Amino acid sequence: MDGPSGSGKSSASRGVARALGLRYLDTGAMYRAVTWWMLQHGVEPADPAAIAARAADPVLDVGTDPDGPTIAVGGVDVAGPIRGPEVTGAVSAVSAVPEVRARLVAAQRAVIGSGDIVVEGRDIGTVVAPGAQVKVYLTASAEARAHRRTAELNGGAAGTTVEAQRAAMARRDALDSTRKADPLVRADDAVELDTTALTLDEVIAEILRLVKE
Ligand code: C5P
Repeated sequence: MDGPSGSGKSSASRGVARALGLRYLDTGAMYRAVTWWMLQHGVEPADPAAIAARAADPVLDVGTDPDGPTIAVGGVDVAGPIRGPEVTGAVSAVSAVPEVRARLVAAQRAVIGSGDIVVEGRDIGTVVAPGAQVKVYLTASAEARAHRRTAELNGGAAGTTVEAQRAAMARRDALDSTRKADPLVRADDAVELDTTALTLDEVIAEILRLVKE
């Protein structure tokens, strides 16, 4: 499952995994956890050489239960901090570094193994699992995506606005789609699903229909 930020990937992927009794992997959380580690260690996100030099150092531990996905770095639970503005603002720069991607793609393939799993990210259908049985590329209008993300963050009492989220997402999507290494693009054989006018249940039902086809 690939798509830009706020397209509904996480909720849809978890819902599909639950419905099918499968594991679930949030690859964005892995890029966020590496970014958190770099910030903690004073590595400058805007310095690709410095990021590359430390790319192998963070020790990640990622859980794949769709009812309670977990993520830790060096034994520290970072599920909360990786959603904060510092990490969100730096993650696109860190994830554009090829050494970071090579390492995380290998780790993701190891988690995927040979078992069935729902995986969400930006390059799953193109790079991580080009042989996936079902590929979905989720989209939604910029307006809908900004509203969803704002509601999510304000649920956590972050006090952000739709305008601020629209700008932050546009910046992140532009960086993610124009980077040289594994940019965000729809895989040729992915089914594109526009979720703008759909409820979460409708999105999940449509994906389950694709799986059964
Ligand atoms: O999915 P989420 O918004 O948490 O992803 C955070 C960031 O991680 C993205 O903006 C992107 O820079 C990076 N990412 C990536 N490849 C993936 C998943 C996420 O580059 N497969």
